[in-house]
Amino acid sequence: MEKLWSPWRGKYIDSFKSKPEIEECVFCLERDGKIPEVDSMKCYQGENAFVMLNLYPYNNGHLMVVPNNHKSSFLDLNKDEAEEINDLLRKAISALDELIRPHGYNMGANLGKAAGAGIASHLHFHLVPRWTGDTNFMPVLGEIKVISQDLIDLRTKLTEEFRKSSA
Ligand SMILES: [Zn+2]
Repeated sequence: MEKLWSPWRGKYIDSFKSKPEIEECVFCLERDGKIPEVDSMKCYQGENAFVMLNLYPYNNGHLMVVPNNHKSSFLDLNKDEAEEINDLLRKAISALDELIRPHGYNMGANLGKAAGAGIASHLHFHLVPRWTGDTNFMPVLGEIKVISQDLIDLRTKLTEEFRKSSA
């Protein structure tokens, strides 16, 4: 996928994409807090799953909800993981409704490389805010869009929203 934004991050992320092994998995690194604060996109860390902004957003506010465990199959999610992912997706919608007021959302997962998963080895669920007229279709791959709001600023605001909703 082409770089969409923040070119100063590009090289860093490219290095993850070319090394999908577990020790280099960007989701595992985010989970473990091994990404420097300034580059971390994590908004919330739960017991079984966490929330982060996508560095390659399809649209402003594009979030991902990720199980803590490095597993690729949807069928391998246990009940606790499935419940927390569901809960976090709902909280994410509430937070984004509050912060950037989308008109709608696309929500879902690309299971496997053949389905378009960028990092197929670690399951993750996308939540993409949509606005009437932003585009006529879900830009699945390679679409370059101009992002209107600063990603770091949004991460900070989302972190606060999750903190409030989990208090
Ligand atoms: Zn992983």
